[in-house]
Amino acid sequence: MNILCLKKDHQFEVVLKEIKTMNSFFGAGRIELEDKIAEIFGTKKAKLRSETIFKKIYKQNPLDNYDFSELSHEVIAWLKNNYDFSVPLEISDIQMSTHDGSVKFAMRLKSDGKLVESVLIPERGRLTQCISTQVGCAQGCRFCQTGRMGLMRSLTTEEIIGQVILAEKWRKENLDFHVSSYQRITNIVYMGMGEPLDNIDNVIKSTQIFCDHLGLNLSPNKVTVSTVGLMPALDRILNETKVAVALSLHSPFEDERSKVMPVNLRHPLTQVIETLRKHTLSGTRHSFMIQYTLLRGINDTERHAEALVSLLQGVGAKINLIPLNEHEGASFRRPDLGRVYQFQQILKNSGMVATVRLSKGRDIQAACGQLIKDKVK
Ligand code: SF4
Repeated sequence: MNILCLKKDHQFEVVLKEIKTMNSFFGAGRIELEDKIAEIFGTKKAKLRSETIFKKIYKQNPLDNYDFSELSHEVIAWLKNNYDFSVPLEISDIQMSTHDGSVKFAMRLKSDGKLVESVLIPERGRLTQCISTQVGCAQGCRFCQTGRMGLMRSLTTEEIIGQVILAEKWRKENLDFHVSSYQRITNIVYMGMGEPLDNIDNVIKSTQIFCDHLGLNLSPNKVTVSTVGLMPALDRILNETKVAVALSLHSPFEDERSKVMPVNLRHPLTQVIETLRKHTLSGTRHSFMIQYTLLRGINDTERHAEALVSLLQGVGAKINLIPLNEHEGASFRRPDLGRVYQFQQILKNSGMVATVRLSKGRDIQAACGQLIKDKVK
């Protein structure tokens, strides 16, 4: 940071001075915290201390009144001097679905005032939170509202984690809503604004905190990272984590996919599918979710279904068919349900696992591809 300093000869000059800034606690993994404690206080109790701190922060409520009494005064003082425990986002707007109880939050990033969206989706004993990883998105998929914004910036680890902490705090303070009847969030999907693999370091770090048994304690198969298939980040998420991976496929043909998903020109489908096949064979993953948004007259024909079956040979895949969520200004249309189930039947007849997802939160524009640009500064 530039600081104006008064020199002895009474001239002002601009000098570079290191200003100590506090790191957000929610950006640190447990091992990183343990290493820092070991560096300052020695290795002897570093593991135990980091575990105690993590347990306190992630299991305790309320958020802003932590009880660190089990720790020594020195450690408490160091923590307070070095870490910021406030959540780096605040709720700016909330919309509730009257159809299915979904709740969509617009969350303001405290550092620059930009907005991202996050959605709580209750469904048959599960409470899923859909989270964002970027403000806007660089991938420009043609059926997606977020894609029209372009990329403004990627979120930090603490801004990704903060969406869940903030929603949990809101649930505990607002007990009258259906989503608040769940004991905890059971699943996390990285399917909000942005392409997660375009923010790979922060995404990997956040999955580690979500899955840490002293963090948010989610099983890796309850955490799903969705991607259009960016390479080589796809290999990284598969090698460095155990979370579930969902590929947004949307057409089995290279040229057609490139038309709706420009990313396909840089990362061709055959290359991406080959990576999934390689990981299926090596046993890194048994199965991938393949997301296929059905667009009327574009990718919903028998020819597409049959090509999809042959493309996915040798890949452990569960196909999730999503009839398009139409939005204002969209140039594509949603197929009728008869066509959707016909498409599903062709896949099933070939021995594939295929489900149809009728999106939640459509009345509050919270469904896939509907997280909108209008509210984002
Ligand atoms: S569908 Fe996903 S990757 Fe494509 S533009 Fe939208 S947010 Fe980005």
